[in-house]
Amino acid sequence: MSYTALYRKFRPTAFEDVKGQDHIITTLQNQIKANRIGHAYLFCGTRGTGKTTVAKIFAKAVNCEHPADGSPCGVCAMCRSIAAGTSMNVIEIDAASNNGVDNIREIREEVTYRPTEGNYKVYIIDEVHMLSIGAFNALLKTLEEPPEYVIFILATTEVHKIPITILSRCQHYDFKRITIDTIADRMKELMEAERVNVEDKAIRYIAKAADGSMRDALSLLDQCIAFYLGQTLTYDNVLEVLGAVDTDVFSRLLRNIIVRDVPKVLDTVEDLVMQGRELTQLAVDFTWYLRNLLLVKTSDSIEDVLDVSSENLAQLREEAQMIETDMLLRYIRIFSELSGQLKYAVQKRVLLEVALIKLCTPAMEVTQDTLLDRIRAIEEKVENGLAAAPQTGCGPDMGNAMQTGYQGWAPAGMTGSALKKKPEIPAAIPEDVQEVVKNFRSIADETSGPVRTYLKKARLSLGGDNRLMVVLPDAMGASIVGREDHKEELENLIEQRIGKKVEVEIRQVEDGRRFEDTFADLERHMESVINMEITVEG
Ligand SMILES: [Zn+2]
Repeated sequence: MSYTALYRKFRPTAFEDVKGQDHIITTLQNQIKANRIGHAYLFCGTRGTGKTTVAKIFAKAVNCEHPADGSPCGVCAMCRSIAAGTSMNVIEIDAASNNGVDNIREIREEVTYRPTEGNYKVYIIDEVHMLSIGAFNALLKTLEEPPEYVIFILATTEVHKIPITILSRCQHYDFKRITIDTIADRMKELMEAERVNVEDKAIRYIAKAADGSMRDALSLLDQCIAFYLGQTLTYDNVLEVLGAVDTDVFSRLLRNIIVRDVPKVLDTVEDLVMQGRELTQLAVDFTWYLRNLLLVKTSDSIEDVLDVSSENLAQLREEAQMIETDMLLRYIRIFSELSGQLKYAVQKRVLLEVALIKLCTPAMEVTQDTLLDRIRAIEEKVENGLAAAPQTGCGPDMGNAMQTGYQGWAPAGMTGSALKKKPEIPAAIPEDVQEVVKNFRSIADETSGPVRTYLKKARLSLGGDNRLMVVLPDAMGASIVGREDHKEELENLIEQRIGKKVEVEIRQVEDGRRFEDTFADLERHMESVINMEITVEG
């Protein structure tokens, strides 16, 4: 016994069976009733929203011998031959596999012949965005002067790929995502007709998972029924078959994270593990969920980018209200790191739990920068303590050093073991470099455009061979100032000012670190040398 997929078996044959596209159906029916039929239509919208189905019903309606109220009668010879796919009046073309100029030329030759029966030849070109440029141009010629007995219906999921010249010649219809309610109602109807018992919750879950596509919903339903043939299809069965975690779980998880309820969060993980859910996929899905939340939070008109049904969107909007943007960014960062780690990890569950606890406990992780800062603060305290200990009674200088803290340079007499890692400035700085450092800010002011802007944030240090290191705070600045012609400009200005050539090296501060961690601060060092001289003299 052959099995017909649900979506084929129950494909609507009349306008009134098409669900969720009322605005389009009404307009098309009115056109047929008023006999104001266009010659080119563009149907766009996500997959499975009824574009080709409506196109076929429309083809029947315009050819029907006894149309009633803009709908095909379904019983006349034309209606029946179109339904059976034997009519010469309806030509379906899949542009994905027939996208060349020749395919369209063929159509152009064909359209010169009047239909032998019925009123209209209807060309339905599916996935029309796949046509080549040449094919579009060939099609355009036909669209410009179509014979009165020809109708083109172009269907696409990607309207932005259609040339404007084509768009401007078509009546444009947007097929909406179908709501969960509409999909669920339709599935219930079909399940009654098929005499299959399905839990309401199961139907709703499938409707939700299909995300606006009736065809996807029916395919998913098919899969689930096949798995539990002859039994009542439950919600749990459906999750089992689809191997999925309900987005409701993500919603629950998120709400518990926001209120920092660690036990409840871990309970959820326990449940998911017991159900045998794939944790790597879970991390990826949850990251996407957070990403969607971020989009909702940061923009008002995000529906097109977001690709979720309006019900899911409403839920996302509600949750977006509950959470701050920077928290979301932190969550996303932690979870995308986790996704990377999970791929090769053995203890997936532990990693997942740790990540979730991190989300619940900001004090534990905060941002990376803050954390680094905290460590630095502690390091500095420890270092000062250690260095100070053996040198007690060293005098008031010590107190000064404690107050200012170390900024990457080590004053004489302070080279305790704890200070070894700190970058240092050699005792003798070449005079020409000293001259440049003294004049650097005013030299930098003479550079052009963006270089000047970035140099304002630059710090100076001393490189190998006594090169002057110009350290930019980020990669962007370093790449601009470091451009060969920009570097040359700076070197030339230096030469003009101090009368000597000084080689410049452009560097950048590593991500997540401070200038002082890697570089000795040449400007501050020179200031301090001058100050010390004064102090000694005084
Ligand atoms: Zn008919």
